[in-house]
Amino acid sequence: MANRFDWIQKELKNLKKNGLYNNIRTLDSAQGAWLTVDGKNVLNFCSNNYLGLANNPHLVAAAKKALDEYGIGPGAVRTIAGTMEIHHELERRVAAFKHSEAAITFQSGFTANLATIPALVGKEDVIFSDELNHASIIDGCRLSGARVIRYNHCDPTHLELVIKENEGTYNHALIVTDGVFSMDGDIAPLDQLYDIANAYDILLMVDDAHGEGVLGKGGRGIVDHFNLHGKVDIEVGTFSKAFGVVGGVVSGNANIVEWLTQRGRPFLFSSAVTPPDVAACIAAIDVLEESTELVDRLWSNGAYFKKEMAALGFDTGNSQTPITPIMLGEAQLAQDFSKKLFEQGVFATSIGYPTVPQGKARIRVMISAAHSKDDLDKGLAGFKIVGRELGVI
Ligand SMILES: *Cc1c(COP(=O)(O)O)cnc(C)c1O
Repeated sequence: MANRFDWIQKELKNLKKNGLYNNIRTLDSAQGAWLTVDGKNVLNFCSNNYLGLANNPHLVAAAKKALDEYGIGPGAVRTIAGTMEIHHELERRVAAFKHSEAAITFQSGFTANLATIPALVGKEDVIFSDELNHASIIDGCRLSGARVIRYNHCDPTHLELVIKENEGTYNHALIVTDGVFSMDGDIAPLDQLYDIANAYDILLMVDDAHGEGVLGKGGRGIVDHFNLHGKVDIEVGTFSKAFGVVGGVVSGNANIVEWLTQRGRPFLFSSAVTPPDVAACIAAIDVLEESTELVDRLWSNGAYFKKEMAALGFDTGNSQTPITPIMLGEAQLAQDFSKKLFEQGVFATSIGYPTVPQGKARIRVMISAAHSKDDLDKGLAGFKIVGRELGVI
């Protein structure tokens, strides 16, 4: 007999048939260059732990200390009774680190986007959005009710064209882009986007989740990378990637940061991250301010891995960052490749539709400063074996 779950079961079966089902593996170890996954010790090529901070002793010690001092939970949403001194301290530290006017933190990068976009634009307004923007930007745009006008990926000329075409049809406008595009590793031309935003007096927002701790001097992010301090209105960041913790942040213009304390719905209606999380984020800033060593190693590891993969004959796309996509095409091939890599002791997940367009499935290798050269060589050897076996190289 049919029941109300039938359609879900059918859809799940379809996902499996098409190689699009997320097979989620369980880790039995802390994050690091090597992981215990399903009981097996494997080389980690898929976490966003760019700097190896997720299990860094300074961060762990700071979290333990905060636990003793502040306890475990924030107790309430921030506007009622859940803002602790340590939350303010993190916001001051982020603003100073990034040379921005002000900063406000959120539970995650995802909620930072859901808070910010609907607070800035609404029904009478438009958003000019890069066509490959992250899901959390897309959802923030939808929630806002504003008209969304997509421009071609990283194409300032096309952006200007659509702005001109729509002049006079809206009240406010916002240009929004990923900083580093997570699936391809390319960098938004933020300097050119700024010139356009400035010329047309439009708010400019960049989501630098994958650039935080990676781009700019000592990991200060994309605004620092392009030397656009004080010019980009909104820079979204996450503490869940290079910072190795969890949480989101908006830094930039002080008017906007203040407005978000009044109108950012995830800020107003959902509690903040816990004191140990916050303390670990502050410790991550300490580590980054002390030395550029980790960021430098991340970049040299990325450059080495990409060069060797290209020499083996793999197509590594257009990445300008340590993110290394291995372009494979069909989702099934990417899934088979990932499975065989795992048998070789290399953990690198395949990524297919809808995360990337149909026919553009890939393995995405996330390089980290935690990898040694020996680790990278082991990974390359695994790719060589599987690539030959599957006829990719
Ligand atoms: C990962 C990512 C996010 C989400 O960050 P979380 O802090 O994990 O919620 C948002 N935007 C972009 C561009 C991302 O890559």
